[in-house]
Amino acid sequence: MTSELTYRRHEHQPTSNIYSPKPSKPWSITIRPIRYILHEQRLIFTLIGIVLATFFFILIPSSTTNKPMSRPTQLLNPRPVFNTNRYNSGGKIPLGLKRKGLRVLVTGGAGFVGSHLVDRLIERGDSVIVVDNFFTGNKENVMHHFGNAGFELIRHDVVEPLLLEVDQIYHLACPASPVHYKFNPVKTIKTNVVGTLNMLGLAKRVGARFLLTSTSEVYGDPLQHPQVETYWGNVNPIGVRSCYDEGKRTAETLTMDYHRGAGVEVRIARIFNTYGPRMCIDDGRVVSNFVAQALRKEPMTVYGDGKQTRSFQYVSDLVVGLMRLMEGEYVGPFNLGNPGEFTMLELAQVVQETIDPNAKIEFRPNTEDDPHKRKPDITKAKDLLGWEPKVELRKGLPMMVSDFRQRIFGDHKDNDAAISSSF
Ligand code: NAD
Ligand code: UDP
Ligand code: UDP
Repeated sequence: MTSELTYRRHEHQPTSNIYSPKPSKPWSITIRPIRYILHEQRLIFTLIGIVLATFFFILIPSSTTNKPMSRPTQLLNPRPVFNTNRYNSGGKIPLGLKRKGLRVLVTGGAGFVGSHLVDRLIERGDSVIVVDNFFTGNKENVMHHFGNAGFELIRHDVVEPLLLEVDQIYHLACPASPVHYKFNPVKTIKTNVVGTLNMLGLAKRVGARFLLTSTSEVYGDPLQHPQVETYWGNVNPIGVRSCYDEGKRTAETLTMDYHRGAGVEVRIARIFNTYGPRMCIDDGRVVSNFVAQALRKEPMTVYGDGKQTRSFQYVSDLVVGLMRLMEGEYVGPFNLGNPGEFTMLELAQVVQETIDPNAKIEFRPNTEDDPHKRKPDITKAKDLLGWEPKVELRKGLPMMVSDFRQRIFGDHKDNDAAISSSF
């Protein structure tokens, strides 16, 4: 049986063996070589097409996203601008992987200042990793971010090495209250020295920008008033506060040596006394002590004659300053503090006005090596970072009082509302 297919093929067989090309049309002369190439060199053309497309997708986006900004724009823009950053360099992400936002490590992020900083970073869309050993910090300070894919919390002590991939490191891990840092002084200096070394090693390995939260304590009991960044300080190297003061001074030294020696991009903030919601209630610092004591109807404990001075900064001002410093182009050090200066007796008076006019004062012996005066000169931060604090003590204290009131007397839900409304 002859198949239909065989039959049809025969139908189209040429009737003659003589080769007779179709009559050529004028346009076919020009396209014939192209058709030949397209037929015969198909593979090569496909490869060239892939190469061209790859160049297009890699080069065009990177040339448009990495344009340098002018300095004023950098200072105002909340997004970082750096070229050395491998996550920011554009087009280097392997095919199939999505480009991620900025990854920020906050050491000590479960503490008072750190948790407010984390709130702001998450709010602007960064992915945040908090590393904390919970010595003075608390999970409750960051638990409102649990369940957010952009947030991770790692229990880790910075004295031990740590491997992570991040773009920026805010290094805050260290107890800040004198009562806490004197509790285990050797651990405090290890945290400041070995902990800072590890975080700088990490910054060097991954090319991250590193910000150290240093302190006004590097000025010790200052002989210059107010304190300017160029003042080298008056610190007792063998006193009870030196685990913190000298620890932070060494941390500054390490930071600058990694900058000069290893090319790590660094920033140094010298923070002056800061207060606000989420401070540890019984951390022994003067603002938290006075507020908690006045709320509990206990006498406010004034150490010494109460004539020593401090300058108190509200936490939201500090967080803005830290972020401005991180995104800016200057290494520092920068004083970040509120220049409003108060004696401890004046502070007690403000607490009386805010909480209870009948709150009593009780004098206690002062602690060893207590600095007599403290007031930041913030000219440098104003000029170069365009930063200055906005919240004066009489405005900031009531926001902290409402947080303390709710934590001491209960009702945690209102507490969260009070904290977020304070920003
Ligand atoms: P905080 O005690 O509330 O926070 C410090 C955080 O670091 C805590 O969560 C603590 O558990 C964590 N931590 C401590 N040691 C650690 C370690 N070895 N490994 C991992 N985590 C560790 O203090 P804070 O007031 O939020 O201060 C934050 C930073 O700012 C500190 O570096 C402090 O020196 C600096 N600072 C604060 C003030 C201030 O008035 N608050 C003033 C000057 C400098
Ligand atoms: N380090 C770390 N994480 C890193 C890289 C380094 O914890 O991703 C630590 C490392 O363990 C070392 C410190 O940082 O103790 C300093 O590292 P660096 O590479 O600067 O010095 P080296 O290891 O050569 O002494
Ligand atoms: N202070 C005080 N009563 C207190 C706690 C502290 O008078 O209950 C004083 C303390 O002697 C110091 C000042 O307040 O002169 C600030 O102390 P704090 O511990 O808050 O911070 P730092 O000494 O680190 O500036």
